[in-house]
Order: sequence, then C-alpha cells, then structure tokens
Amino acid sequence: MMKVLKFGGTSISSASKMKEVVRLVNDGEKKVVVFSAFSGMTNSLLEIADYLYKKNVDGANEIINRLEYKYAQLITEIYSTDAIKEEAKAVLDAIFAAIRSYTNDLFTLFEEKELVAQGELLSSSFLYLLFKEQGISVALIPALDFMRTDKNSEPDPVYIKEKLNKQLEIHSDAQIYITQGYICRNAYGEIDNLERGGSDYSASLIGAAIHAEEIQIWTDVDGMQNNDPRYVEQTAPVRQLQFEEAAELAYFGAKILHPTCILPAKLNNIPVRLLNTLQPEAPGTLISNHLEKGKIKAVAAKDGITAIKIKSGRMLLAHGFLRKVFEIFESYQTPIDTVVTSEVGVSVTIDKEKYLSDILNDLKKYGTVSVDKDMTIVCVVGDLEWDNVGFESKAVNALKDVQVRMISYGGSNYNISFLIKTEDKKKALQALSNNLFK
Ligand code: ASP
Ligand code: MG
Repeated sequence: MMKVLKFGGTSISSASKMKEVVRLVNDGEKKVVVFSAFSGMTNSLLEIADYLYKKNVDGANEIINRLEYKYAQLITEIYSTDAIKEEAKAVLDAIFAAIRSYTNDLFTLFEEKELVAQGELLSSSFLYLLFKEQGISVALIPALDFMRTDKNSEPDPVYIKEKLNKQLEIHSDAQIYITQGYICRNAYGEIDNLERGGSDYSASLIGAAIHAEEIQIWTDVDGMQNNDPRYVEQTAPVRQLQFEEAAELAYFGAKILHPTCILPAKLNNIPVRLLNTLQPEAPGTLISNHLEKGKIKAVAAKDGITAIKIKSGRMLLAHGFLRKVFEIFESYQTPIDTVVTSEVGVSVTIDKEKYLSDILNDLKKYGTVSVDKDMTIVCVVGDLEWDNVGFESKAVNALKDVQVRMISYGGSNYNISFLIKTEDKKKALQALSNNLFK
C-alpha cells in the first residue's frame, strides 16, 4: 500500500522549498505525490483570462511576460546540471507557447480551462525534473490521462481507478509517482478542473482509487488549532478529528479541508493527515473515522450570518407550515444553515444575502418577520452525543455573559452552535476556550 502526499503551492514556492520537498518525499517508500500550481500562479492565470475576456491582449501579455521571467529565473536556481536546465527550459517554452496561443484567438470558458491547467502542468514538470536530477526513480503521470468528471461534473471514481492503476502499472518500476492536482478532463474529454483549491480533492480521489494507506496534505501552516488564533490567546493544536468533526469545522471556516475533498477518503476509510513542511517532524492533525469518545475538540466561528424569525401563532403547528417557509428559501436558491423552532415561531440562519429582500417579502405571507444582521455562528465540535451528560451545558455555561440569539444542538452528534452578534465574537471564543480547554 502506498501513501499519497499532496503539496500546496506555498510549499514549493522557492528553490529551497522545492529541495526540501524532495528530501521529505524521498524516504525509500513508494508513493504518489500530487502538486498544486506554484503559489499565486493560478491567480495570475485567471487574471490573464480576465484580460482576454476583456480583449485586452496587452494587459494579458504583461502578466505572461512577468510570469515567464519569474519561472525562467527559478530554473537557474533549482537545477545544477545543464542537461536538466535545458529540459526545464523546454518545458517552460512549451507551456508559455500554449499560454500565448490563447491571446490570438477567441477566448471562451473552454480556453480558460486549458489556460489555468498550465499552472499544475508547470509545477509538476519542474518537480519531476528535480527528482530526476537527484537520481531518484520517478515517473510523471499526467492527471489529464486519468482524472475525469462525469456529465454531472462529479468525479468518476470507476474511470479514475481504472486509468490511474493502468498508469501505475506502466511505470511499475518507479519509486515516486508525480502527478498534478486540480486539473482533469470532463465527460467530453475536454480539459477542466476540480474548482479552486481542488488539489486536495485530487489527492483524496487518488487515495481512494489506489486504496492508499494514508493521504497526507502538506502545507506550510501549523495544523488545525482548537480555536481561532486571531481572536484567542493560547490555542492548541488538534491532533485527531473524526471526518464528521472535520466537516463541521470546515463549514465554520476553520482552516481545514473542505468536506467534499475528504469524502472519498472517508468513504474508503483512508486516514488523512495534515502536515507542515516547515515543521515536518510535528505530528500534525490526523482525520479518520475514529471518534475520540468524550472529547471536545475545537471551536470555530463563521461571520456574515443573517437570522430570520417568522412568528405565526396560528399557523406554525399546522402541518405544511415549515415546508412553505423552506420552499421560499429554496425558490431563491438560498440554503438554510441552522433552524430552531418553537410553538409560535421559527428562526433560521442564512449566509447568502443576495435575495434577502425577496425572501422577506414572500415570508410575510405566513407571519410576522424580523431580521438580525451581522451575526456570527460559533460552533463547538467534538463528541457531543446526547448520552454524554454535561457537555452541552459546559458550552452554554461558558457563554453566560454573552447575548445568545439561537442555539442549535442535536442536529448531529458532533456539534452545538450558538448564534451571537459579531461584535461579541472575540469574547465568546475566548470564554469557550477558557471553559472547554483549560
Ligand atoms: N492551483 C489551484 C488553486 O490555486 C488548485 C489548488 O491549489 O488546490 O486553486
Ligand atoms: Mg493553490
């Protein structure tokens, strides 16, 4: 069984960091290594796309020239042999010829997808050449040959598994397999991608396809912390999370993987480890299907929340009332995040305000409507199964000096969340840390 290691753009953003990655990867074990584009490159490519949509070719060329110079410079810093420098230069020339080709022609979403794919194609080739220069047995497996989405733009695990394993067989003598994150082909064979930040998703899909022993996500920040260090003094690293706990935290803005990214790992029971290239010996954060019983793990907060209350003494208990309320949100493609009901009313929260005035207008058919804006959801994540006596009360107690607008508990076994004013967030987070983690 192999491990899958994914390195983000900032972990490979200089010659010395790239060499450090080679050192980390090359430990004698066979593995698959997934690379994102160099830090900032995807943004630059999208900026080029933006100029091309606006038919400003000069604007595009300015960025293209700047990028090309930067990566030509990088070649002189990373490699020591002339032969490999020449190979890298040939890669660079081919990629920048491709990038420039989009400036001459009609530019549509189709070209944009091909253009942004050049970021991962460049970084993976440069790293491949670095491994090669150091005499390591390495194979470059093109993601465009195995990573694929179906007609619903969802990854196609059967196709991925078959094609990827075929590629690994062809290069069965290699010690290190390198591939690109983020990029793929769609159901029609066109170049596409897995959306911004999609390299983690790639790593998870690859891990599932080869039944990896572990998926490692390497960044250059400290692993997951148990509270937001920007607001709270003395946070501590979280060493272990269950997939569901991680998903709750991700929604609430914790610096952790997006839930869809780790779904393939969860379904295939493959542990995901978050690690730091700047501190490679640190244990990082392990996300797996194991739940640490009786432990509260972390607190996270999400701003920009709007709470809406609909009061209707007569109608609420009539069946169909909640359906009618929810249908209004649905008709404006606005997801509801939290719901609390009582005999005389229902409160919901949303984090998308685009259609708020239309929604309020429609809701007035069913009751008296009031709105609270600039709210924050604070969420406490851990083993909050209801048979654990006293856990939710500890969290509630911590917030005894804070105005709490809504409490949501029992929706899952892993969280209790509180809706508070954003201005009270710092106080609330600190109080929770003091009471839950000390
Ligand atoms: N390079 C892509 C991005 O910046 C994918 C990734 O980094 O995961 O969004
Ligand atoms: Mg990136």
